[in-house]
Amino acid sequence: MQAILPDEVATKELGTWLGQRMQAGDTLWLHGDLGAGKTTLVRGLAEGLGITDRVTSPTFTFVHEFAGRLPFYHFDLYRLDDPEEVWDLGWSDYLGGQGVVAVEWPERLGENWPMAGLHITLTPVTLPDGSWARALTLESQGDEALRFLKELRATCSSLD
Ligand code: ADP
Ligand code: MG
Repeated sequence: MQAILPDEVATKELGTWLGQRMQAGDTLWLHGDLGAGKTTLVRGLAEGLGITDRVTSPTFTFVHEFAGRLPFYHFDLYRLDDPEEVWDLGWSDYLGGQGVVAVEWPERLGENWPMAGLHITLTPVTLPDGSWARALTLESQGDEALRFLKELRATCSSLD
């Protein structure tokens, strides 16, 4: 599924929409270069989960934990050198557990790492009027996250 997010507010709102719907064990994988808008989306997600703390990227610690409607774990693996390092973070306890997980830079885990859940890719694009926006791609890996795509599609067509 593809769409355009015209500005930062739209990206955050998509995050909030998802945050309101995410359930224990759900994982969101966020793809895109530096400045693509991954953390912006996570800020919205946190809001949707009822978290009022300020969300910054966990650059050096790899993960930040928040308490909202559900526990929320925000990973940023940008500085991860060796995928095996994530086991030391307690990775297997976070994933598919009692909370919601969002992962920036999942590419750092390598190609053969299991990544079931919702995949979002953000890519900067220029609109015809010359303004900068983000192209959005949503994909489900496994069946769990299909419900988001179905609901989003239904929501969008009802807006037509
Ligand atoms: P990342 O976590 O992917 O490195 P950030 O969310 O930290 O990216 O930063 C994205 C930057 O791009 C912010 O400065 C934000 O204001 C800007 N921006 C411009 N347009 C958008 C958009 N449509 N969606 C998200 N961010 C946008
Ligand atoms: Mg970031």
